[in-house]
Amino acid sequence: MNNQKRIGAGILCIVFVLAMLVPSVFIIHEAGHDCIGEDCPICQAIATCSQLLRVIGVVILILAALLGILSAQRAWNSHAYFVPAFGTLVSWKIRLNN
Ligand SMILES: [Zn+2]
Repeated sequence: MNNQKRIGAGILCIVFVLAMLVPSVFIIHEAGHDCIGEDCPICQAIATCSQLLRVIGVVILILAALLGILSAQRAWNSHAYFVPAFGTLVSWKIRLNN
């Protein structure tokens, strides 16, 4: 199960890198093309690629914010465990044998 998660994370990482790299390379390669003016298919493809890169950037921003919120919540919960106001030794089922 752990190995499947590792393989899945690796595949997801490769897909993510390719989704960032391929449009960037296309935009760089076609930046100086001979434009025919309006309705140029290359310009439309460049616009689509730049939109894709913007969407990926927004997704990364949202995931980073969610990760920050979850990390802060987890840190708060682990901190609250040691504050005496949130429970007693009996409620935590801690046994003092000495
Ligand atoms: Zn063009």
